[in-house]
Amino acid sequence: MKGLQRMMKGIEMEVNLTRHLIGKDVLDDRVMAAIKQVPRHEFLPADFRFLAYDNGPAPIGSGQTISQPYIVALMSDLLDTKPTDTILEIGTGSGYQTAILSKLVKQVYSLEIIEELSTQATRRLKKLGYDNVTVRNGDGSFGWPEHAPYDGIIVTAAAAYIPQPLIDQLKVGARLVIPVGLPYSYQELMVVEKKADGKVEARNILGVSFVPLVSGCDVEAKNLGEQHDQ
Ligand code: SAH
Repeated sequence: MKGLQRMMKGIEMEVNLTRHLIGKDVLDDRVMAAIKQVPRHEFLPADFRFLAYDNGPAPIGSGQTISQPYIVALMSDLLDTKPTDTILEIGTGSGYQTAILSKLVKQVYSLEIIEELSTQATRRLKKLGYDNVTVRNGDGSFGWPEHAPYDGIIVTAAAAYIPQPLIDQLKVGARLVIPVGLPYSYQELMVVEKKADGKVEARNILGVSFVPLVSGCDVEAKNLGEQHDQ
């Protein structure tokens, strides 16, 4: 079986295995079509390209990972997008999830806290022709107020709690898809919907494992630590 077909089969099988948790047997056709169209190998460093079409996460440098294709597909499905949507993504990483979203919606704004990754992702997405995405280096915990309110927000790093600015920057009726829990431990993928009174309704979907959503202070502290190490 060719790589991409194998990956698509892997996603379908895992959707089926988790159907009782996610409440469906198959994911949205638009999402599956978008996954088929994005060349995942382009988002991996050369040394790890051999993992591109496995249904698993893989290293992308700077201690970060590209998410598992099943999780990318599931989160894109849970976001419940329309072609006219403007979406905010927190945690650009390799830009793979950004590219999938670019196929599904009108405009994607994406924030990445590690400068090297945001620079690489910007270059890569441009080269591959995803021209309805804008990537910026910054701390996504505060959202990106300039383009708010959003039709949906997706966070691809694990938060200890739901950042209030992300709720504030959602349209009424829109969704935030976010893993919430302990760093490098148990996290729950949550779908949070903003109601007309500003309150939210949250659902837990299933247990996941993401790299942590860090704050700008963590990154500065790490950089200082590295300077002292030299
Ligand atoms: N969706 C990405 C997954 C990347 S892993 C992909 O498919 O490749 C999560 C990313 O979130 C990492 O690159 C990490 O640096 C970034 N991140 C962590 N905390 C962040 C924050 N506060 N703001 C923005 N990005 C953050």
